[in-house]
Amino acid sequence: MDCLFCKIINGELPANKVYDDDLVVAFDDIAPKAPHHKLIVPKVHIATLNDLDKNHNPLLGHMIHTASVIAKDLGVAENGYRTIFNCNKDAGQVVFHIHLHLLAGRPMPGMTQ
Ligand code: AMP
Ligand code: ZN
Repeated sequence: MDCLFCKIINGELPANKVYDDDLVVAFDDIAPKAPHHKLIVPKVHIATLNDLDKNHNPLLGHMIHTASVIAKDLGVAENGYRTIFNCNKDAGQVVFHIHLHLLAGRPMPGMTQ
């Protein structure tokens, strides 16, 4: 399958991995939007949040928990961090394999727009 994140998962493309287990991998975003910008990615290919079904709920919980573990490892948990899923074009999704952004290391603007 021609999917960038599947290629990172199977080793065809490089990434700076910071976490790896049976279900998910996490690596540095190639174009970081904050001092710390990691992507938590399930090993199973799911194109968008619209493709989830309830069987994925434990996986999604694991992704969010993994973000919190990485934030603690980075030492940013107390100051705080932002987690984001983008879905489709209005959100600016460009890689169609779901991923949870973990952004930290600077104050984040409010969500008023
Ligand atoms: P999204 O807009 O939610 O689809 O975000 C996709 C993210 O993937 C962007 O923040 C990109 O900078 C990031 N990205 C694209 N290609 C790579 C890559 N080869 N390695 C790491 N991150 C990437
Ligand atoms: Zn994929």
